[in-house]
Amino acid sequence: MGSRVLVTGGAGFIGSHTCLVLLEAGYDLLILDNFANSSPEALTRVAAVANVALGSQRLQIQRGDIRDPITLDGLFSAAAANGRPFDAVIHFAGLKAVSESIKKPLLYWDINVAGSRTLLAAMDAHACRTLVFSSSATVYGYPVTVPIPESAPIQPNNPYGFSKAAVEQMLTDLNSSAPNTWRIASLRYFNPVGAHPSGRIGEDPMGIPNNLFPFVTQVAVGRRDQLRVFGSDWPTHDGTGVRDYIHVMDLAEGHKAALTTLLNQGPQHLTCNLGSGDGVSVLDVVNAFSAASGQDIPYALVDRRPGDAAVTVADPSHAADILQWRTKRTLGDICRDGWAWQQANPMGYRQSA
Ligand code: NAD
Ligand code: UDP
Repeated sequence: MGSRVLVTGGAGFIGSHTCLVLLEAGYDLLILDNFANSSPEALTRVAAVANVALGSQRLQIQRGDIRDPITLDGLFSAAAANGRPFDAVIHFAGLKAVSESIKKPLLYWDINVAGSRTLLAAMDAHACRTLVFSSSATVYGYPVTVPIPESAPIQPNNPYGFSKAAVEQMLTDLNSSAPNTWRIASLRYFNPVGAHPSGRIGEDPMGIPNNLFPFVTQVAVGRRDQLRVFGSDWPTHDGTGVRDYIHVMDLAEGHKAALTTLLNQGPQHLTCNLGSGDGVSVLDVVNAFSAASGQDIPYALVDRRPGDAAVTVADPSHAADILQWRTKRTLGDICRDGWAWQQANPMGYRQSA
């Protein structure tokens, strides 16, 4: 029998791809998600691609909110009563839109911070003290040095970033309060993009995408007329913003590596960037996507978006050292797989085969 993992937010973009990788590696999963930003269809497809029965011991789903202590207590108690307690938790559940966080800061502190606190209290009460946490490169704010090492200052510049930094601090405090007890990985993701190569699982943002990559794929498939490129006067090789785009399957494999490291090693709190280390501009993405899809991507150069940095690129060497993990997939792979997903599912999970 494989280790059993509770995955919060497992129906979402990164969660669904990670669940697939973990199922294929032999882990048994229970997913807790309130589907606030995802569709149960994603999990139906994860089960199909992994060839496991939904609802079986391999893959169970509980609709619920991480802020509800009764739901959490029920899950941990039932798992113990059935003789299959959780060996670990991977905590994806949360909100992630910077602009929404500026308008609704209390919601972000409630779900991202208070929700994490409620989850940690339940884990502690049930003696499940192994956690992989979804943090973000947003904690670095405007970077001081690029590529960014984990030792760079934590200086978020929006409520979303503060909520991630607050949870990291909570984890540090918890770890200090009970030395040699917790096994924690705080993973700072750079820009997750792309899709599973089957074209069955991918990113399905609700409404108009805020992020570059889903906007580009929706322009390519004809759902949007043109891309707005935010700023062409940045101090970069072509004047457009530079980011570190990481294929979501590389990111999913990074979670497997972190989980394996925690389960195989002693208690610790490790903090890792998960990125490729490669800087790619907005126009590089447009050109690569156009080449991969054969579609024209019309765009207009417009003003900079407030709050953006010129360049955000990871120093990924720490993850390579301690997780023995590094990205394998190229920008071309990202575009090919993202296009396969978008073409097969032009309206995402809602109206597609
Ligand atoms: P997503 O929105 O696709 O997935 C989040 C999942 O959590 C969704 O299925 C949603 O329904 C669920 N959820 C939200 N609130 C919940 C609640 N209160 N209780 C239970 N479930 C809840 O986002 P994603 O891109 O997969 O991101 C996963 C995590 O990674 C998030 O914590 C996000 O902040 C973090 N992250 C994402 C990015 C990115 O660019 N996608 C970058 C850095 C960090
Ligand atoms: N961007 C853009 N047009 C868009 C969305 C994003 O030009 O419609 C740019 C943005 O200014 C940044 C890069 O694309 O330089 C990545 O932005 P995204 O929102 O995807 O991720 P971020 O790094 O801001 O979290």
